[in-house]
Amino acid sequence: MGAVTLLTARGIVSAIDMRMTRLRTALLVLAGILVIVPSAHAQRGKKPSARVQRNSRPLELRGSKESVEKMYDFAQSNHLPFYLSPTNVSDAVAQQKLVPLTGDATYELTRGVGYSYATPEARQFVQAFAPQYLAVCGTPLTVTSAARPVTRQPRNANPHSVHPTGIAVDLRRPAAGPCLTWVRSALAELENKGIIEATEERRPVHLHIAVLVRPGEPVVLPQMVPAMTAARSALSVMNSTR
Ligand SMILES: [Zn+2]
Repeated sequence: MGAVTLLTARGIVSAIDMRMTRLRTALLVLAGILVIVPSAHAQRGKKPSARVQRNSRPLELRGSKESVEKMYDFAQSNHLPFYLSPTNVSDAVAQQKLVPLTGDATYELTRGVGYSYATPEARQFVQAFAPQYLAVCGTPLTVTSAARPVTRQPRNANPHSVHPTGIAVDLRRPAAGPCLTWVRSALAELENKGIIEATEERRPVHLHIAVLVRPGEPVVLPQMVPAMTAARSALSVMNSTR
């Protein structure tokens, strides 16, 4: 009735002809429609993005051709060698261009890590990130892969993969929950700061991290552990060493 009539030009003209009380009522109805329509739009726009935030990788971790090229370009522009064979990796280790990832109280390696070596900068990243991971997640960080000679890359590896240089490490993705939520936001933060390029891979599921710190420069990570968590974990360390 009133609302429909008001949406046509003739309706507006006839509304003007209405008596004052009827006009006031009609305007109130129209105002109601104008208020309802934008808020319905806003809700429709909001819901899916909230779902995306909760259930999947943040934009930074989604991976793309650009992301792969960024890592590859970093390696190229810093003249990092792509080690071809296991012998080349051994030679790089002997020259300390690659250093061993030995594991400690804060991180461990799976048995599947064929070559537990990385560049000094990639190892520094693991050693700096792992204590924060442990403080938030309550378990050591797990490295599932590191340097991989070109001839030992998996079949589905991207030809521009930087694993053969030793700047990349793969980390086990924790199960869904507060730990994974923190890991995703921490890696996104480090990527936005230009320290790493991170991708949450799906086949197989893991977190791929390339450390984009120039050779010889120190790897300095911001404190990303929430203050409350840091206090709690400091307390538990104090208790356990008592
Ligand atoms: Zn990887």
